[in-house]
Amino acid sequence: MQLNCLGFPRIGRRRELKFALEKYWRGESTQTQLLAQAATLRQRHWQWQAEAGVEQVVVGDFAFYDQVLTLSATLNAIPARHRGDGPIDLDTLFRVARGRAPTGQDAPASEMTKYFNTNYHYLVPELSAGQVFSIAYEQLFDEVAEAKALGYQPKPALLGPVSYLYLSKTVGQDFDKLSLLPNLLKTYTDILERFSALGVTWVQLEEPILALELTKEWQDAITDAYEAVKTAKVKILLTSYYGSIAHHQGLVSRLPVAGLHLDLVTAPEQLPLFANALGQDQILSLGVVNGRNVWAAEVDEIAQRIGAIARDLGSRLWIGTSCSLLHSPVDLDAETKLAPALRQQLAFAKQKLDELAKVRLLLQDGDSKAAMEIIAQCTARREAKALAADNRVIARVKALTQNDYQRRSDFSVRQAVQQRKYRLPLLPTTTIGSFPQTPAIRGLRSRWRKGELNDTQYTEQLQQVTRDTINCQLKLGIDVLVHGEAERNDMVEYFGEKLEGVGFTLQGWVQSYGSRCVKPPLIYGDVSRPKAMTVDWAVFAQSLTDKPVKGMLTGPVTILHWSFAREDISRDTIATQLALAIRDEVVDLQNAGIGIIQIDEPAFREGLPLKQSDWQAYLDWAVKAFKLSAAGVVDETQIHTHMCYSEFNDTIAAIAAMDADVITIETSRSRMELLNAFEDFAYPNEIGPGVYDIHSPNIPTVAAMVQLIEKAAQKIPPRQLWVNPDCGLKTRTWAEVEPALKNMVEASRELRRRLA
Ligand code: GLN
Ligand code: ZN
Repeated sequence: MQLNCLGFPRIGRRRELKFALEKYWRGESTQTQLLAQAATLRQRHWQWQAEAGVEQVVVGDFAFYDQVLTLSATLNAIPARHRGDGPIDLDTLFRVARGRAPTGQDAPASEMTKYFNTNYHYLVPELSAGQVFSIAYEQLFDEVAEAKALGYQPKPALLGPVSYLYLSKTVGQDFDKLSLLPNLLKTYTDILERFSALGVTWVQLEEPILALELTKEWQDAITDAYEAVKTAKVKILLTSYYGSIAHHQGLVSRLPVAGLHLDLVTAPEQLPLFANALGQDQILSLGVVNGRNVWAAEVDEIAQRIGAIARDLGSRLWIGTSCSLLHSPVDLDAETKLAPALRQQLAFAKQKLDELAKVRLLLQDGDSKAAMEIIAQCTARREAKALAADNRVIARVKALTQNDYQRRSDFSVRQAVQQRKYRLPLLPTTTIGSFPQTPAIRGLRSRWRKGELNDTQYTEQLQQVTRDTINCQLKLGIDVLVHGEAERNDMVEYFGEKLEGVGFTLQGWVQSYGSRCVKPPLIYGDVSRPKAMTVDWAVFAQSLTDKPVKGMLTGPVTILHWSFAREDISRDTIATQLALAIRDEVVDLQNAGIGIIQIDEPAFREGLPLKQSDWQAYLDWAVKAFKLSAAGVVDETQIHTHMCYSEFNDTIAAIAAMDADVITIETSRSRMELLNAFEDFAYPNEIGPGVYDIHSPNIPTVAAMVQLIEKAAQKIPPRQLWVNPDCGLKTRTWAEVEPALKNMVEASRELRRRLA
């Protein structure tokens, strides 16, 4: 029974790769130094795998920027604007990712997008008609040779040909991507032959698109692809992850591959289906240790669940991670400050390797003393968790009724009451929440964290920033103000730090893209709000003006998606607990005199499941969680929400069902095109389509914004429209924000005059 690690995080336990990359990009180190750091990391990660008992170490999971980009380079599929005439080298890859031409001038970076339903971003390959593939970059082969030279048996991991095509975009003339498949398969076969020549036995070819619902053409492409590459002298482990592939069972079981990997963490139910159809010589790799979380696996339960099939298959069974460990932090041993109660619940990538070994031990030597110890540990951990449950929270969730999710009156009634109270003009202006997070503000925070500023000093300084922010908005003539969020480091972390049941790590970094990492909070227990979180700041800001200042909160669905959430209760229930905590805050804000409250849900769409057939179930509970957070208030309290996109074509009914009085969304970059969803669907409540692209340093003109508002007014009745930027302003400078908002206010006034 082999242990199968699908991939290991490359960033390093102290983010060594991040720092080495950024140093190199700044011109402060040589490429030789960068390569040396990378080699050290690979060697360390292989050593950890070998120490845990993994027979074949994974290669190809290392990337200087992104493994899909490395593959594009290997396949000679690099955009001409980044490539130039020379051979592809490491700097070519960085030019694709960071937007440079070989001359050093700007050349738009390749698009970056989320890898399936993860928070990892890959660089989208750009393929043009007649693209000819060939092996053009050696990194993969070099790393295979490097592992060999260190005495390891390497198992290359590679995105498979069909998923690679699927994730690509076509550029230039319109053509069918699949027309490139035959040529692509030739190059894949060449790659496999090179591996074989280097002494590789197994290759992990990943086809994550199998977890999606595929058209006939793409299903046929899978069949064609694996027929074509079967001539290569390596064994292919066809690898799926992130979801069930049961809907493609017939197709998959007929493929001429030497082995199959299934993600049993997201889809345990698919096991019998594939086990029954397994060929005589095929191996089955079971992904039982979750590659996407931080929690210790219930290894005893896993061993029990796969015990029968393990006895049947013997050495034809492999025990694996569900997917690459890329999505979990590197090493729990780096956490020196964690509370022991939380620590014992955790396993990061390095510890997950040991969990694979524990599962094997339980299967092969279940009566041994070591096995008994493992089982005792699991039991103790579960008992500790049960003891830590917060029964008040559990009871409160249980006692919820239909009424708790509904505002007291329908929107039309609320709208009239709110209109009477706030007397806002037609096309009211507002912003999304944050104002520039200047170096001065970040400096304050870091001095406060280091203890150089005490709490009072820190608060007083931030109050001054808030005062300036309010005064600026008053001067600009904005109708509904914000306090500017100067006191917040991050919109999820800020709340996470104040909630019971949520914890933080020191080094729990996970790569998001390139050298960028995020450190998500850990939702480990029942969530509650011990005391008000934002009321002081909101009241302070409101005391400075008679105009309404919005209370500003992060919504339950977004907090959930941007955290590592416990897995012993459903995501639906966690969202409900978070919603109750936010609801308490909303009510407290209202009672403290804050009449307009925004509950941000920028991650709402991200949570959509991979298969469209699963969407409705998600939308049902996500909408309910939002409504629960918002519905505790009286009619005249105006609830806003915000989402940083407006791809609403397929979810608009759910967005409407959230029943926020006002929603602000991103629309300026698409020049309001994204509002098409609103043509067929009469969105009932008020809406602020963004007119100012805050992702760009450019200052939009009055005329440009007037035009955008007019365009929006063709799809949405003007009395429902608000005027605002696409998103928060925290990444911009004051020099950009002030003139842009001045123009925005002017654009709104001009149209008011015209429409009046
Ligand atoms: N209120 C937040 C801000 O303005 C919203 C951020 C977001 O949508 N991602 O920064
Ligand atoms: Zn946003």
